[in-house]
Amino acid sequence: MKELDGQVALVTGGSRGIGLAIAEELGRAGAKVAVVARNEEGATAAAAALEGDGHKGYGCDVSDSNDANEAVERVEEDLGPIEILVNNAGIARDNIFIRMTEDEWDDVLAVNLKGAYNMTRALARGMMKRRRGVVLNISSVVGVVGNAGQANYAASKAGLIGFTKSLAKELAPRGIRCNVIAPGFITTDMTAELPESAVEELHSRIPLGRFGDPGDVGGLARFLAGPGARYITGQVVAVDGGMAI
Ligand code: NAP
Repeated sequence: MKELDGQVALVTGGSRGIGLAIAEELGRAGAKVAVVARNEEGATAAAAALEGDGHKGYGCDVSDSNDANEAVERVEEDLGPIEILVNNAGIARDNIFIRMTEDEWDDVLAVNLKGAYNMTRALARGMMKRRRGVVLNISSVVGVVGNAGQANYAASKAGLIGFTKSLAKELAPRGIRCNVIAPGFITTDMTAELPESAVEELHSRIPLGRFGDPGDVGGLARFLAGPGARYITGQVVAVDGGMAI
């Protein structure tokens, strides 16, 4: 018997990087995983490669509320009631503030913050009726300490923290736990384009001296989704090699 046997988990942005590692860990823990991404083929391929049975991929743009509602409906028809929601889909459009365009601001807030709102709203009523559920929101160390060149991204990630703490208070009486994971720099497509000089400089600011792997975040998500975390809600848990100390 595994700790998430029989539970249905939905992971947004589960086709690559951190989301894929979270989907892999939840699958390993026995959950049936709905992998959501804009690219349906990518989501389907990722779901097919997960350990265990019953996983499925879905195409959905989380920033579009109709898309989010439809995706949740399809997942629940196919796999059953969703008990674990991981809002991981995220993008970055970096620029120094003075040059940051309105589109760069809007796009990042729409996916990173409104996307989490859209998905959570589509699911919350069902979780409340069943009086159980877990919501995990993937923020960032940047949402806690800020970062030059990422005002839009940092605002979206700080917003997720306030959102999660409020939800945690509101939904705890209904048996729903809500927590934030705040990763530091993790090796994925998102960080692949950083120039070598920037990577070296960042390494020097990380006490553990290196970027993390997606699996480092996956393991934490598995713990926070599972019974070992049954008394943990409203928390921001960093997995950042000590960067925010
Ligand atoms: P990534 O490798 O770029 O993957 C992003 C994932 O999100 C993909 O599956 C992508 O699939 C999906 N996605 C993007 N926009 C979407 C949308 N509108 N609707 C649905 N899915 C969407 O990113 P990552 O590095 O794994 O990051 C995952 C999360 O962790 C993000 O929220 C990011 O901000 C956060 N984070 C990352 C780091 C890091 O160092 N990598 C650090 C802290 C926090 P499609 O392109 O097919 O949609």
